[in-house]
Amino acid sequence: MKIIDKSLYTFSGDNPPFCSAQPGEVLLFRTMDCYSGQLTSEDQKLEGLDLTKCNPAAGPVFVEGAEPGDVLVVDVLDITVADVGCTRTSGKSGPLRDVTEERNRILHIVDGCVQFNDIRWPINPMVGVMGTAPAGDSVATGYAGSHGGNMDSKKIAKGARVYFPVQVSGALLQMGDIHATMGDGEICGAGVETAGEILVRISLIKNFTLNWPVTETGNNWYVNATGKDYDESLILASKELCRLMEPAYGWDATDIFIYLSLQGDVEINQACRPLSTPMVNVRVGIPKTAGKKPLIG
Ligand code: CA
Ligand code: ZN
Repeated sequence: MKIIDKSLYTFSGDNPPFCSAQPGEVLLFRTMDCYSGQLTSEDQKLEGLDLTKCNPAAGPVFVEGAEPGDVLVVDVLDITVADVGCTRTSGKSGPLRDVTEERNRILHIVDGCVQFNDIRWPINPMVGVMGTAPAGDSVATGYAGSHGGNMDSKKIAKGARVYFPVQVSGALLQMGDIHATMGDGEICGAGVETAGEILVRISLIKNFTLNWPVTETGNNWYVNATGKDYDESLILASKELCRLMEPAYGWDATDIFIYLSLQGDVEINQACRPLSTPMVNVRVGIPKTAGKKPLIG
């Protein structure tokens, strides 16, 4: 099995592949935490961190046969985490930024639980950054877009299947930024950031139009979309979900609109960017329903 253990800080069609792989292969991504392991003590000052080394994403993997217009499928088979993680407030982002201070916390993971002050809760590991190379300019791994990237969805966890539009030959898959746990919205700007390993199986769907990454879980489909604010992101995700549902459900847009209001869920993946570079990642989901075709494939 190939082990992908070198990381880059951009998604780009110009990034040299770390290795290539065939559809159907199982791969192990060995990833650093989102600070590239720089944050090791609660006394460290933010000025001491090299912020160009945030959100390292291991790869890229060149997927044989993947061409623009195809869909890359990533099955998350397992996620393992280190026994320590970290988190911090930056003083620059999130809804409580002006009533809180900058603080680092080192958090230990013991017996499958995160210890925080006087309470603990079970870990629920997720992959914050996963994506393919964008068609146009390179995108820093701290951002998200139609290529995926820093989507920070709690649903990208063990057992999830994630679909990405292929925008360049070989797709150039990268991932990293494991969180042992994170709340929806990630409002202080970090989860329990940890190094770890992500075991995936990759496969390919030829010639299927997909505009935004989709997450399939045991019970739900979610379209992930990213805009500068909530309204823009919600419209982008809803329109893509509607477009995918029309052939799968055989309904028109108006019936889909009504159904999404009755049975769909609008959820926030992440909304913690500084005001200088706004970005909101939303997911709009529907339950899987017997008798309806899969949205993709
Ligand atoms: Ca992240
Ligand atoms: Zn993170």
